[in-house]
Amino acid sequence: PRRRTLSVDDYVAGVRSGDRAVIARAITLVESRKPAHRELAQEMLVRLLPHAGAAHRVGITGVPGVGKSTFIEALGKHLTGSGHKVAVLAVDPTSGRSGGSILGDKTRMTDLGQDENAFIRPSPSAGTLGGVARATRETMVVVEAAGFDVVLVETVGVGQSEVTVADMVDMFMVLMLPGAGDELQGIKKGILEIADMLVINKADGDNKDRAQRAAREYKGALHILQQADPDWSPRVLTCSALVEQGIDEVWGTVKEHRQALEAAGSFERKRAGQQVRWMWAMVRDRLIGALEGHPEVKALVPELEAAVVDGDTTPAVAATRILEAFGLDHA
Ligand code: GDP
Repeated sequence: PRRRTLSVDDYVAGVRSGDRAVIARAITLVESRKPAHRELAQEMLVRLLPHAGAAHRVGITGVPGVGKSTFIEALGKHLTGSGHKVAVLAVDPTSGRSGGSILGDKTRMTDLGQDENAFIRPSPSAGTLGGVARATRETMVVVEAAGFDVVLVETVGVGQSEVTVADMVDMFMVLMLPGAGDELQGIKKGILEIADMLVINKADGDNKDRAQRAAREYKGALHILQQADPDWSPRVLTCSALVEQGIDEVWGTVKEHRQALEAAGSFERKRAGQQVRWMWAMVRDRLIGALEGHPEVKALVPELEAAVVDGDTTPAVAATRILEAFGLDHA
């Protein structure tokens, strides 16, 4: 049967009362790119915003196989077991192309998926990283207004996705594998700079010693890096998601991080900076979208690109002609 259309009032009331079906539909609404849906979604978000913001927002990344879903399941159960309500979101800009999200998948988190104090939502398949990030940030408002006080945002290191997720959360955590000798080989350049915490997972059985050794090496590596946040020096921990060891220490460090930032007065400032950067990211995305979709620009681009390739015109002159076609005469 056709579902009843919901008004903004219906969405707000349903989300606020924690109605899971309405929460899911509200997220589908913010994921939509149809102009009418966008308008409705913004009306809803403006009303939900005063009720959002109280959650711990934690980003989690790591290479495939490091144990992200096992870890999120263990951490999530630990948290719901101590009275928290946990939302798990995912940012995976490749999910549309690969035909189904590998992240935030309920079938990978079977216990947490059935927990009534947990809400798992796979990555929107909105295509571009900007689109996926926009939807995820707005989804965060929805789940926080619904009363979830911990939001875990999972991402896999594709392109810029870690940097994007790090800029929508309070704390960014990188899961690592215990490994001998070449610990620092597998990690993407720049990831240590944005990590607030490194967690060496799979520190169990035969891996225990190697995990400790890896932890020492990472501590050394972090030590020589310029500290990104003046109020927090990144921590290195070990845990086993499989046998659920060290999970409470990880959560303790998340809380410690928040206390440190709040004590220094930089917690609200960090969030405020993220909101302003998000606004400008949307301006840029929409400007570029409008430019690329502009009929006169589209008609002009092939010949201009060819002229630039052939050296018949300079990139600067071609850029000016594109902007003029778009209607910007003095840019
Ligand atoms: P993801 O791809 O990062 O989400 O990784 P998964 O959570 O799917 O885990 C990949 C594999 O590693 C699975 O076979 C898990 O059972 C295993 N695994 C995850 N965490 C641990 C751990 O703490 N210890 C051990 N020994 N294996 C783990």
